Amino acid sequence: MGVKKRDVQRRWWPVVIGVIVISVVGRLWLTNIDFNDCQLHWVDVHGVIPAVSSCSLNDSVGSNYLSPHQSDWEMEFDSTLASEQYRILSDDNGIHIAYGPNGDYRARATLRQLTHLTTEGAKLPYGVIEDCPAFRHRGVLMDVCRHFFTVAEVKRQLDIMALYKFNVLHWHLTEDQGWRIAMDAYSKLAEVAAYRSHGDSVYGGFYTREDLEEVVAYAAGYGIEVIPEIELPGHSQAALAAYPHLGCTGEPVAVPTEWGVFKDIYCAGNEQTFEFLDDVLDYVCEIFPSKYIHIGGDEAPKYRWEHCPKCQQRMKEEGLPNEEALQGWFNTRIENYLAAKGKQIIGWDEILEGGLSPNATVQSWRGFEGAQCAAEQGHDAIVSPTSHAYFDYPVSSIDVPKVYDFNLYPPNLDRFTYGHHIIGGECNLWSERIPNTETLDRRFLPRGIAMSEVLWSNPAERDYDAFWERLQGHYSLLDVLGYGYDVEQIPVKLGTKNDSFKEELKVIVTTEPAFANLELAVEAPTGMTMGSATTFTERGVHQIKVQPNRGGHAMGKVLNYEFAVHEGLMTHSCLTSPPTEPYTGTKDIPLVDGVLGSENYRDGNWVGYFNPDYFSGHFGWDQPYAIDSIKINFLQSRLSWILIPEKVITDVYESEDQISRYEWDRTSSTSEEGIFIETMVLAPEGGFPATQNIDLMIPNTEVLPDNHPSAGERVWHFLDEVQIYGRPL
Ligand SMILES: [Zn+2]
Repeated sequence: MGVKKRDVQRRWWPVVIGVIVISVVGRLWLTNIDFNDCQLHWVDVHGVIPAVSSCSLNDSVGSNYLSPHQSDWEMEFDSTLASEQYRILSDDNGIHIAYGPNGDYRARATLRQLTHLTTEGAKLPYGVIEDCPAFRHRGVLMDVCRHFFTVAEVKRQLDIMALYKFNVLHWHLTEDQGWRIAMDAYSKLAEVAAYRSHGDSVYGGFYTREDLEEVVAYAAGYGIEVIPEIELPGHSQAALAAYPHLGCTGEPVAVPTEWGVFKDIYCAGNEQTFEFLDDVLDYVCEIFPSKYIHIGGDEAPKYRWEHCPKCQQRMKEEGLPNEEALQGWFNTRIENYLAAKGKQIIGWDEILEGGLSPNATVQSWRGFEGAQCAAEQGHDAIVSPTSHAYFDYPVSSIDVPKVYDFNLYPPNLDRFTYGHHIIGGECNLWSERIPNTETLDRRFLPRGIAMSEVLWSNPAERDYDAFWERLQGHYSLLDVLGYGYDVEQIPVKLGTKNDSFKEELKVIVTTEPAFANLELAVEAPTGMTMGSATTFTERGVHQIKVQPNRGGHAMGKVLNYEFAVHEGLMTHSCLTSPPTEPYTGTKDIPLVDGVLGSENYRDGNWVGYFNPDYFSGHFGWDQPYAIDSIKINFLQSRLSWILIPEKVITDVYESEDQISRYEWDRTSSTSEEGIFIETMVLAPEGGFPATQNIDLMIPNTEVLPDNHPSAGERVWHFLDEVQIYGRPL
């Protein structure tokens, strides 16, 4: 670590006006749920029944034994009922189901839920359940490219989707990091494009034609349509690794091992690209009977096209003004090819940028604007924004109340005129961080149950409290079926309270149970227990681990919390340059509140700066301090463009006009993959000069390095908790 010291003669920093006084009281709120209330009797059938459009059940007249075997139910197709609509009638004659197209599957799902959700011999009271979905497209995106899932694992996911009445498996089958469709005509797809090398080990897999057909048939057995996604023109580097001549340079590339956006994409000027894609689409159309083919269209950097003579020639010939228009032309050519086969395309919202034919459906992921724009232009839209539908994000970013609050209609859309174009939504289970079914379960459940209700019911009919009551019964159902699940919300929060009257330095952590019956196993160095307050006065970082359990089953992973007792907690401190929204920290004094940011940069503790924004902050005491060290935690997450900063500058005020400046250089590599926190320790030999005021600055002029897939883009710096260790003089 390079430490340079030189004297600075004048003030570098703006005068600090705001003085914020803090001391620290950390608090743990522990929350519990009363699961004994879930032992519902049929008297409470309205409390257990899954969300249905209407139901009128009467316990006092009589009831029918509800067998889990569908052969015991009388089923009858009713041509007057709409798609997926059904009616369940329970009377003297038993249980009778009338259904419209595919409505039998949804009726079965309702009865299966009811059968499982009761704890005593299931009986359905006399009465009627009438039901039909609010949205016709209720999907789950399964990404089998970043991580591969076997046919059995995909079928397992279809089982749980069927139980919760999803009707679309959006199957993401091709990506930069792996191509999953084996084709005899292109043998290198299975040999090369399906695998990536991580050092000495190889990761990957593919599906044969029989595998794909098996999944399609299995899904059809639930009335679930499988929509394959063949990404183009971007997210295609695995295919280019197998067939480099389909790229603009023709140079060999590897199947990438890192996540991100890659500049090597299909060449739009090369006719062989279209021969290949036409062959792939022919094959896909033979296997998948769905009306739609998803063609991706997102995140296609134009760098290669800008520098490719063939692509430029194509633009000239077709009279295309720019590369966005070339992508529009590319999409249209593919769309026309598919239209001749009776198929319609779905594309991510970027496809709006290059011009679009009326039949194209837009899947909006970058907020709601894409859906609004698409609907106003007369396109159908599927809504799956990062804010509510990205189930690859942890619960600390998107929790169950957030999912349940999802309203598919864009806020500014004229629903009367365009509302019918909003055909539904999806939960997107991108698998960069979902390596196995264990994690898949935790990402999907219980959030998927909330999404299922969001997509099935009308927003006006939703009531979170009622949903939450019903949800509690579903955990035992999931236990029986062998699916794991995460917590609904993070049940533990570390908070701080201003307590300026107390001079002593301490952190008080209080564990308060708030959800009855959610068992929280707490592990902390002090042997702290639930429902008690514990005071930490020892300097340094302390850890608390909490494992939420329900009925002996772990609910999600261990939650790790870190907090620190240090002299920075006694400072008047402030940020002298504003952080970049929305990463402003949710605390009054985000950097010296004692609570350390976790590996989730959205946890509210981190303060983020996106170039050209840079960090500067002031820390001051009421009396002089001897400072031994300053420790700053930084987060690195290359995929999210977050790097540890190159340099930290510290100005230590010995007096009003005597300032010593210190500079520290980054020691870690910006090439290091994954998400990690690094503590930069600023500790000059012999300590810092005695001082009452310290300024910190972190310049941010960096761009992503050449070896990054988005090389040249600006970077983020994230820091949380500036720990200052020393003693008052
Ligand atoms: Zn090209």
